[in-house]
Amino acid sequence: MENTFKKGGISVQTEHIFPVIKKWLYSEKDIFLREIVSNASDAVTKLKRLASLGQYDGGDETYRIDVVLDKLSKTLTVSDNGIGMTAEELDRYICQIALSGALEFVEKYEGDNTSNGIIGHFGLGFYSSFMVSDTVELITKSYTDAPAVHWTCNTEGNYETAAGEREGHGTTVIMHISDEEAAYLEKSKIEEILDKYCAFMPVEIFFRAEGDTEEKNDAAEEAAPINDTTPLWLKNPSDCTPEEYKEFYRKVFRDWREPLFWIHVNADYPLNFRGILYFPKITNEYESIEGQVKLYYNQVFVADNIKEVIPEYLLMLKGVLDCPELPLNVSRSYLQNNTYVSKVSAHIVKKVADKLCSLCNTAREEYEKVWGDIRTFVEYACMRDRKFYDRVKDSLLLELTDGSFVTTADYLEAAKEKHENTVYYTSDKAAQAQYISMFAAEGLKIAVFEKVLDTQFLSMLESYDSNVKYVRIDADVAAALKSGEAAAEDKALSELFVKVSGNEKLKVEFTALKDSSVPVLLTISEESRRMEEMMKMYAMSGMNMGMPSYPTEATLTVNTASPLIAKLGAMEDEKREKTATYLFELALLSQRKLTAEELQKFLSDSYSVLDWI
Ligand code: ADP
Repeated sequence: MENTFKKGGISVQTEHIFPVIKKWLYSEKDIFLREIVSNASDAVTKLKRLASLGQYDGGDETYRIDVVLDKLSKTLTVSDNGIGMTAEELDRYICQIALSGALEFVEKYEGDNTSNGIIGHFGLGFYSSFMVSDTVELITKSYTDAPAVHWTCNTEGNYETAAGEREGHGTTVIMHISDEEAAYLEKSKIEEILDKYCAFMPVEIFFRAEGDTEEKNDAAEEAAPINDTTPLWLKNPSDCTPEEYKEFYRKVFRDWREPLFWIHVNADYPLNFRGILYFPKITNEYESIEGQVKLYYNQVFVADNIKEVIPEYLLMLKGVLDCPELPLNVSRSYLQNNTYVSKVSAHIVKKVADKLCSLCNTAREEYEKVWGDIRTFVEYACMRDRKFYDRVKDSLLLELTDGSFVTTADYLEAAKEKHENTVYYTSDKAAQAQYISMFAAEGLKIAVFEKVLDTQFLSMLESYDSNVKYVRIDADVAAALKSGEAAAEDKALSELFVKVSGNEKLKVEFTALKDSSVPVLLTISEESRRMEEMMKMYAMSGMNMGMPSYPTEATLTVNTASPLIAKLGAMEDEKREKTATYLFELALLSQRKLTAEELQKFLSDSYSVLDWI
């Protein structure tokens, strides 16, 4: 070539780099386009900075990046009107610095084949274009008076620099896509990559596929950039409307269900990161609760769900985080021990907790509406992180059986006259309906803890604050229903119930309850029931700790206000015992599910009761 003024062989100094780049991180090849487009974006940003410093006068120049796909000539071209490079700069930045950067990168991570070893694989830079190309051409013209340069490099690492032709300042990178990577000549593929990585880059990006007849006449569509250069997270939260937040959510996550609420994080020095986190609506418990937090580095997409930045218990959040301070070109193990990362994570946790508290205090109605959706997450987060619990503990709501919501403090305050420091709850509204109606008759409120996680959550609450006890409504009826006056003990009846229950340890108590329709109630103390549940869990997981025989510490409350109980005294012995047996079985039935044998006995007893008619 006549006007060739420099020739070189990259392979001479760097024998292995090209083959390694070519096969580098197979599944992550897509990032080459991000690297080339973000270089173009940086080039524009640099020129803008010079302009703002008065060192360059671009007039009313509009800056842009063009991505052009030409399937026929098998090229993908990225062109910018940024700062450009002189021949010397090209030699320094591309032939030396970029190359040594790529080399260092490859050397550092060559042995690390796990595709998530390096977050976003930042740092391979310009040379990542060789992952998909046979030959890469670069035509660049500096914003200064220096002439344009044309650089061509093939896959063996041999390059040529020649005089180039370019109208204005800026850089054009032409990638000659190799036959093996022909997938990158598909319009949809390029669109997908641009959408994933470049959707929020700060310079307008236009995409065009040559020979694409479909859109040729549609000038309006061609004129629209593919990216949003000023994403919502960069705005001041006070300038954003709820509609904007929802629109952004719909666009980014393609989720048409409205998010429950959101948190706009705007952390200045020293953390310096921004983002919007959404609590998504989850339709049912069984739906995957994996959220999606997209991590950006100065508006360039890096990766999804970086577990080191968002604590595991908040991973159901959806959102975007832009962390320009994050050292991205590092491995996960590095991130795990990075103080900056843990500070960002702690800040996010604090913001989430603050949001819950502020909703509870200032938007109570809205908070109550979403509580059912977020409750499981909040409980889980409390269990995983004591600090989180400490921040939100006053904003945890109790859902009551009447459908209302109260904080624990309000519940205790309202119940103070009737019972102290005890929250009564049901774990199964249907099975414990009998008890619920008795509590309601006494004007007592009952919290609903029906979810799988709830038992553990309650134990955790008690261990954090030992002043408050959580007692299931079938655990301690006599104590709860204080209106019931202690009645005189009927020793003979007491012994009879012990006999028919088959449980020598059964405690029998006599009380006159307000609700006279229930003759006897069986209760199992909270501690002994929890112990039993734990044993069952161990037994299920194969650890046989020896099941205690049922019922362990059961109490039978005999309601002396019941006409049936009054009648018992007058019955002749046989009938009296049969009735007591039957009453005990009914009490058992309303307390728990009967075993097969118990059910059979209950049915045959029922038939003989019917016989009396
Ligand atoms: P990095 O972008 O991380 O510095 P690269 O290998 O991508 O590494 O690029 C090396 C250097 O080449 C850049 O720092 C920049 O100076 C120069 N460069 C790359 N692309 C362009 C471009 N489109 N316009 C101007 N300079 C560029």
